Amino acid sequence: MVTTTVDLDAEGVHKGYLDVPVSLNDSAWSNLRVPIFSFKNGDGPGLLLLGGSHGDEFEGPVALSKLVHDHLETADIAGRVIILPALNTPAVLKGTRLSPIDGGNMNRAFPGDPRGTATSRIAAFVTRELIPRVDVVLDLHSGGRSLMFVPSTIVPVQKTPEATERILALAAAFDAPLTIVLREPEVAAMIDAEVEAQGKLMLATELGGLGTLTPETTAIALNGVLGVMSSMGIAGSRGRTGPRVVRPKPVRMVRVEGHSHYVYADENGVFEPFADLGDRVAAGAAIGRLHRVDRVEYPPSEVPAGVDGILVCKNGQGLVKRGDVLAVIGREIAPA
Ligand SMILES: [Zn+2]
Repeated sequence: MVTTTVDLDAEGVHKGYLDVPVSLNDSAWSNLRVPIFSFKNGDGPGLLLLGGSHGDEFEGPVALSKLVHDHLETADIAGRVIILPALNTPAVLKGTRLSPIDGGNMNRAFPGDPRGTATSRIAAFVTRELIPRVDVVLDLHSGGRSLMFVPSTIVPVQKTPEATERILALAAAFDAPLTIVLREPEVAAMIDAEVEAQGKLMLATELGGLGTLTPETTAIALNGVLGVMSSMGIAGSRGRTGPRVVRPKPVRMVRVEGHSHYVYADENGVFEPFADLGDRVAAGAAIGRLHRVDRVEYPPSEVPAGVDGILVCKNGQGLVKRGDVLAVIGREIAPA
């Protein structure tokens, strides 16, 4: 059973922890602490900001750390913002995608189980206590250690076109260089499904990756969060005069649907890319070659694209295994 030291319905700024009991080989009665910040100023729109769902994606945790420590005061906001910069805290501290405690993948653990493993218990708390208190969930992801994305917002395709349109408006407010409209392959266990089931809106991001940060990705993440807050009427940035006006403007947008948009490695080897992020690729044309450098018998094998489009994600490791994603191709639906 997860408890929290923060009164989530109290006015003002409150910071504390989720307390998650875990019983481990090296610590029988351990208490895992997950940081949480609550900013509340009257009734108004509610936003849940999540970072560190995967522990090797640092753009979200740093952007949210900057938000709470440099940019946010309750006097600035109307409504509420709940922030967990490092949702899977043990994974973030280890720099691993999955939890080192239970092997849990936070974004495959929803809706969670209050009597489950640590990861599942945290997911259950988000499902039962946090999502019901807000209107919008913004979940900040990136490619992690293995992948690199064009900094993008991810708009999950909804059951109705109207719901998808409302999330596209949030994506426009976030103002990342690219918006990817995506049909998630494993959506049933993801937070997306739970947010949708509760009638709330879900916006996600893929803001770079490779287990590192750049000034660009950090700035895109923070400005994006502030943009979404402004567009919801929550506003809020220290030193800012009045709410930021989000200009409607053409957003570069692509669609990723189904298997043909993903390029997988057919065998183990070293991947030589021919195309970089943002490059246009053509169906059937090679996006790179796989080299089996341990064998004299095999020449490099070409890796073809399945569809025409733009390279929105690439594998960031030279050495790849059979089954690894080498690239993701988005079909352009709105030009820059
Ligand atoms: Zn992620």
